[in-house]
Amino acid sequence: MIKRCPQHGLFRGEHCECGFAGQPFLDETKTEQLGRLVAGGLRHFPDDLGLQMDSRGWVDLTKLCEVVRSRHRWASKELLIALIESDPKQRYEISNDKVRARYGHSVDVELDHQDNKLPRLYYGASEEEADRILEIGLKSASQRYVHLSTTPEKAWHVATFRTGNPKVIQADAAAAQEAGVKMMTVNEDIVISETIPSRFLCILAAKDIPKHG
Ligand SMILES: [Zn+2]
Repeated sequence: MIKRCPQHGLFRGEHCECGFAGQPFLDETKTEQLGRLVAGGLRHFPDDLGLQMDSRGWVDLTKLCEVVRSRHRWASKELLIALIESDPKQRYEISNDKVRARYGHSVDVELDHQDNKLPRLYYGASEEEADRILEIGLKSASQRYVHLSTTPEKAWHVATFRTGNPKVIQADAAAAQEAGVKMMTVNEDIVISETIPSRFLCILAAKDIPKHG
């Protein structure tokens, strides 16, 4: 849900950063409706909504607002900006009255910042998946970029939602980037990457994954 603080405007969560509980502004159902529409427009089907997306994924914020308002009369630009800026997963960014998703695209967009500084990245997979990845490389089946974790523990943890006893694959990110594979830091947990060829991958021994309780 999105609430309003009289001092600081719209925010998401229980309390404003000043500690004030705030007044309800948009209930959970409507927040989700709006979130789904924004994700669809910026990640998956901009054309269907009549949005023009450039090769880097940017869409005009005012235009996005018009599209949203044509479906949800109660939406405003202020609300849209609050929703985007308070996204708990930092999925979007706004710049010069344009907005884009930072990751998770199924439409074809180019990365324009190559800013991953971590020498190694990690990906959790089932045993069968891991064998296959070591043969053909690490790529996403459904998205343009593959999402990697910044530590072996995080990769292991993410994979436990899909498989019982995950293997953790380590990617030599430094060498892959040197060879031209583009990567982008999303947040402290996630880096997205173009397909990583198998020569940069290995399976981490269980003893090298720090204790994950
Ligand atoms: Zn406040």
